Amino acid sequence: MQTMRTVYLNGEYVSESEATVSIFDRGFLFADGVYEVTTVVDGKLIGFDGHCERLKRSLGELHMKVEINRDELLDIHRELIRRNGIDQGMIYLQVTRGNPGDRDFAFPPEDTPPTMVLFTQHKQVVDTAIEKEGLKVVSVDDLRWGRRDIKTVQLLYPSLAKMEAKAKGADDAWMVQDGFVTEGTSNNAYIVKDGKIVTRNLSNDILHGITRKSVLTCAELLQMDVEERPFTLEEAYVADEAFATSASGFTNPIIEIDGHTIGNGKPGPVGDRLRALYLEENMKAAL
Ligand code: PMP
Repeated sequence: MQTMRTVYLNGEYVSESEATVSIFDRGFLFADGVYEVTTVVDGKLIGFDGHCERLKRSLGELHMKVEINRDELLDIHRELIRRNGIDQGMIYLQVTRGNPGDRDFAFPPEDTPPTMVLFTQHKQVVDTAIEKEGLKVVSVDDLRWGRRDIKTVQLLYPSLAKMEAKAKGADDAWMVQDGFVTEGTSNNAYIVKDGKIVTRNLSNDILHGITRKSVLTCAELLQMDVEERPFTLEEAYVADEAFATSASGFTNPIIEIDGHTIGNGKPGPVGDRLRALYLEENMKAAL
């Protein structure tokens, strides 16, 4: 938490206390909006272009006609970093279908202006306690809708799952559908067995993580074996190693799943090597 950030709202930089959105906004009434979270390290953006491309895809899948100009969006991100003095943290971006002035299930006319909001969050993302100690997860049924590939702001179920995990003394939940792990509440899930990395293949069942893509490229550079397929909880319980990827977590070790210790209960070498190379490669390319 920080006091009085400068945020971006529909073309203007304003104090967070002055940034207000209508009660009729479709984001508020229908969760009719999409978002992206881009991580900042040393004041620079990690994976910006990947997030920008996924944003365009999410908007397209929801038939939101919003022009996204990559260079303008980059300028806004950089301006927010500058104005708020962000060294490590995140830029949150949300675009909704705007304010039709009333509540109606039908979409408003296409010329209804979208609502675009960006704000910063300070967060230590490098040299964290989690990367050294790892996370405990519990499994929960995946009760989300069928288009998890679209990054919508409908995050109630992942939020409930996270609370269930916390109530059980864990840090996060891995969601399971038909016996197979889909992903974490806000991350993609991986296991390692006999040197082979297994992670669920891309489909509408999971979010196509920007970090996932980059980490799999790193695995290729390191000549690691990768299998993209669904894996079961039973496989995960006896894995040598497990980890999760997300924009602000990079790769985070998973040391326990449903009370089963993974490997020796410490962060594993495959996740550690991937994290190091991921950071190295992405810092080189940071904007
Ligand atoms: N899956 C879900 C459900 C997520 O919410 C996230 C984080 N937004 C991810 C995976 C990881 O995606 P990324 O690497 O692009 O942050």
